[in-house]
Amino acid sequence: MKRTLAVLSAFFLLISMTACVKTEEPQQPAEGAVYEKTIFAMDTVMTFKVYGEGTESVLDECEALVRQVEDEISKTIETSDIYRLNASDGQPTTVTPETAELLATACQYSQRTGGAFDITVEPLVALWNVGGGRTVPPGQAEIDALMDMIDYRRITVDGDTVTLNGCRIDLGAIGKGYVSDRLDALLRSHDNVTGALFSLGGNVGVVGTKPEDKPFVIGVRDPSGQPSDFLGYVELTDMFVVSSGDYERFFEYDGVVYHHIIDPATGVPSRSDIKEVSIVCDSGAYADALSTALFVMGTEKALQFYEKNKDFEAIFVTQDAKVFVTQGLKDKFTFTGANAGYTYE
Ligand code: AMP
Ligand code: MG
Repeated sequence: MKRTLAVLSAFFLLISMTACVKTEEPQQPAEGAVYEKTIFAMDTVMTFKVYGEGTESVLDECEALVRQVEDEISKTIETSDIYRLNASDGQPTTVTPETAELLATACQYSQRTGGAFDITVEPLVALWNVGGGRTVPPGQAEIDALMDMIDYRRITVDGDTVTLNGCRIDLGAIGKGYVSDRLDALLRSHDNVTGALFSLGGNVGVVGTKPEDKPFVIGVRDPSGQPSDFLGYVELTDMFVVSSGDYERFFEYDGVVYHHIIDPATGVPSRSDIKEVSIVCDSGAYADALSTALFVMGTEKALQFYEKNKDFEAIFVTQDAKVFVTQGLKDKFTFTGANAGYTYE
């Protein structure tokens, strides 16, 4: 357990912005060669860990890929597809095939989640500017003036040509999950990588297994604690785990917490009964979109959505400190949050 916790905290601790070390781990010879690298990209601390002799250079490939994708989908880099689209004033715009596919996929996820996940929420994200300096909520009239723009059906994707018909887009809720899928493919293309684990903020992906076919252990954060506090962990191979919570970015005004996840139906930060939800599934982008969507839905709708789709698993932490998991995680999740005041159902 001690070792587990040490591994878990390593995800979140920024030891060095560009650390690239070979971890010999002399007391653990079974681990074999392990290489790690931590970078800062997409506004997030990212950690990559690869297992396998001679795989150190794969870390540099991971970093290059992340930076390449960031250049394509960042909202603030002026040459990116997303920046150009948001500045296109409704004109058809050519993007990379990968961006076109991502946008089409994002629209499908919006449709599937009944609009709880919707990348056209950008004008509201900009208005609320949570974590960017706002300390007082905007007025209702300011919110109302933007609501007409919030609709994923305003996005048209035709081959590599994308048209934004009176909307703007923000990939904050799916971008890191999408990068996870790209990293996953890169890592799998290297035969000498026997296993890998990467963490992009709250987005974790694991490839293969640890040495001796052991599963990876991924901590589920205590949403009321420090980033290094956990209320449980899941043991997984070949999977993605993505969390959304009200603790990532927020401000408090008049006793109310205004966090960074907006309910597209109301235009205000969602007020569901969920404090944190983690999605486990075999697609990083889907896991990321769903973490945001289910957070907005609240537990009742989220469980209905689960029953209908059954193509993911989830760990819920409610506002009243209850923790529960979907059927497929019951034997993979270990609850450790009793001392922190959580009850496991
Ligand atoms: P996540 O942390 O994955 O839940 O994503 C939250 C980020 O996605 C926010 O910081 C916004 O940039 C954006 N966002 C907020 N609300 C939504 C929503 N309902 N659908 C899609 N993107 C959103
Ligand atoms: Mg998300």
